[in-house]
Amino acid sequence: MKKYGIFGGTFNPIHYGHLMVVEYLKEELGLDKVIFIPTGNPPHKDLHVSAEDRYKMVDIAIKTNPDFEISDIETKREELSYSVDTIQELKKVHSDVKLYFLIGLDTLYQLKTWKKIDELSKEIEFVVALRPKYIDEENINRELNFLHLMYETKVEIITTPLYEISSTELRNRIKEDKSCRYLIPDKVLEYIKGSGFYKDE
Ligand code: ATP
Repeated sequence: MKKYGIFGGTFNPIHYGHLMVVEYLKEELGLDKVIFIPTGNPPHKDLHVSAEDRYKMVDIAIKTNPDFEISDIETKREELSYSVDTIQELKKVHSDVKLYFLIGLDTLYQLKTWKKIDELSKEIEFVVALRPKYIDEENINRELNFLHLMYETKVEIITTPLYEISSTELRNRIKEDKSCRYLIPDKVLEYIKGSGFYKDE
């Protein structure tokens, strides 16, 4: 059976923290490919950059990796989309594939707030990228037990190297005219500069 990773996010913008971890997980899990799914623009939140532009930046960033794909399943929707709907739709198309939802540690702590997490937990297994020697082991185990007891959520933890960067930090750096070289792929940086994103947020 084929195995695909699903990697969802705002990607505002995508950065090497995302890309490195996904490549690492792909290898550790023996995935055939990873599908990046940028979220649509939530109606209640002004992200300044359109869903199409965030999609474009991911597209540029993954172009050179034949095992990475992008899906417009969420960006093309008018209404707010939920992961449970996205995964159910994807499973219809890829009925013969085992799907893994790849997430970072911050997302693990948000899972209990996701819409229909009980239903989603039946559809897919989560994989969390964790920095080696992460000190918060007790909290993580508590969270995993809670998710398992409440929703039967299956979570695998994989230790990976991690770049301690976030899109929020990078948007601030761009605003302050600081270098993001080696933090964001060059071609994505060119796109950001050409479009003037994050300058006056
Ligand atoms: P923001 O700062 O705008 O919240 P972000 O950098 O956290 O953005 P998202 O698009 O929200 O990026 O994240 C998509 C996924 O990538 C989430 O599962 C998140 O946990 C994970 N992630 C974010 N930053 C990193 C990082 N530096 N290393 C590994 N995973 C990350």
